[in-house]
Amino acid sequence: MQNLQSSPSERQLPEGVMCQVCDERRTNLSRRRLLGAAGLALASAAVAGPLSSFPTLAQTAPNAIAPDVALARIMEGNARYAGNSPANKDFSAGRMARAEAQFPIAAIVGCADSRAAPELMFDQAPGELFVTRVAGNFVNDDGLASLEYGVKFLGVPLIMVLGHSGCGAVSATIKVVQEGVTLPGHLPGLVDALRPGVKAAIAQKPVDLLAAATIENVRYNVAQLQAAKPIVSEFVAAGKVKVVGGVYDIASGRVNLV
Ligand SMILES: [Zn+2]
Repeated sequence: MQNLQSSPSERQLPEGVMCQVCDERRTNLSRRRLLGAAGLALASAAVAGPLSSFPTLAQTAPNAIAPDVALARIMEGNARYAGNSPANKDFSAGRMARAEAQFPIAAIVGCADSRAAPELMFDQAPGELFVTRVAGNFVNDDGLASLEYGVKFLGVPLIMVLGHSGCGAVSATIKVVQEGVTLPGHLPGLVDALRPGVKAAIAQKPVDLLAAATIENVRYNVAQLQAAKPIVSEFVAAGKVKVVGGVYDIASGRVNLV
């Protein structure tokens, strides 16, 4: 599968001089549509019974790439986003292909924070990222089930646990742990999930506790996912899936691996 994104030199061309690029994109999208159709054909032929609504992986799927290749691709997208030169602007491209199948190259475990939208920060088009979001970017059973689906049935080669600067959920957990604050509603359950990372950070006596706790929370959930039985840990052990951690800096737009 060729890269659908234009090169920087192509993006600098004025409108009206893009015909060749457009034609190449149409060719790529047509190829992708065919691949999607092939995947669906395999699915309908190979799967029966209660799992019949689940897709079957096609060896030729566009997301059948090495985890490190997927990581490089989304980090390149983040560099474009941080540099304010996103490649993905035509969201109508590939709609018909996407209606037939999805081939996400990465799963993101992100925070619900309105400023931390993975598709934007990694400059990825619809269909490229399989995203679960919950305040504090942690993995619970439902989130894990989603990731298991992404890994086993969609062929996602990369999982990134993604924290961010100024996280309100992590900040609130610090207050609960350090000051004994009691939160209303269902928030105490969320705090319990973030407690391990926050406690690990407090033990380090860092200068910036919020930043340290955000990193430790990411690392804790990366470790949890790497060991998550039965599905994710097996794919990790086989080298088919990599789990990495990142922190998004809202001010700069950059994601740093942690
Ligand atoms: Zn947050």
